[in-house]
Amino acid sequence: RMRAREEVLTAEPRLSLLQAIRQLTGQIHRLLAAMFDALVELENGKDPLTQLFNRRFIPTIMRREISLALNVRKPFVLAMIDIDYFKKINDSFGHNAGDITLKSVATVIFDHFRSSDYVFRYGGEEFMVLLVESDLSQARIMLETLRAKIAGLAIEVAPGKPISVTVSIGLAEFDYHPDYKRLIEKADRALYAAKSHGRNRLETSRN
Ligand code: GH3
Ligand code: MG
Ligand code: MG
Repeated sequence: RMRAREEVLTAEPRLSLLQAIRQLTGQIHRLLAAMFDALVELENGKDPLTQLFNRRFIPTIMRREISLALNVRKPFVLAMIDIDYFKKINDSFGHNAGDITLKSVATVIFDHFRSSDYVFRYGGEEFMVLLVESDLSQARIMLETLRAKIAGLAIEVAPGKPISVTVSIGLAEFDYHPDYKRLIEKADRALYAAKSHGRNRLETSRN
């Protein structure tokens, strides 16, 4: 008798609980769908040739990393990497050989860094790496070993036709200035210095 009475009393709250659950399930479903859309968008944001981050993600990611670095006062380093005399590869071996070279160099760069770092295809044969929670001395070691690794590659642009390439690299450390464009310009100037000092080398921005 007590049971029957309990059931009568709880029938209505149970119904509203069911409705609430149904509503929540719908919300979860919509959230999952939105998450999936975001993932798909992120996937499309990859450069089709190199599978690296497309440069259009730079503003969003740089702004977020700058605000994180400002909060925890942990520096990060920006590296601009440009293949030396890349045009010659296209001219001597064809555009397809150029594409193969780009893919090989992009893969080596991507595999070289931690999964928390960001690697972008910045331009045609130019890459940008954001090394999170890193200072200049750590970054210099990472980039110097990358430079040597790339210089030691034998890239098969055609069967039995291995070629070698070098890269020039410019580094700039986050200086707590909120404008990310300034930091990119600094790294770019360091890259330009590396080019004019003979290529296949690394230069650091001295503010
Ligand atoms: P530097 O040593 O000064 O960097 O000279 P560089 O020849 O590497 O640079 P430059 O800017 O003169 O030439 C870059 C070339 O890269 C020009 C462009 O045709 C070529 N390029 C850009 N994107 C692609 C691509 O996706 N595939 C191929 N095959 N070539 C590309
Ligand atoms: Mg170049
Ligand atoms: Mg270039």
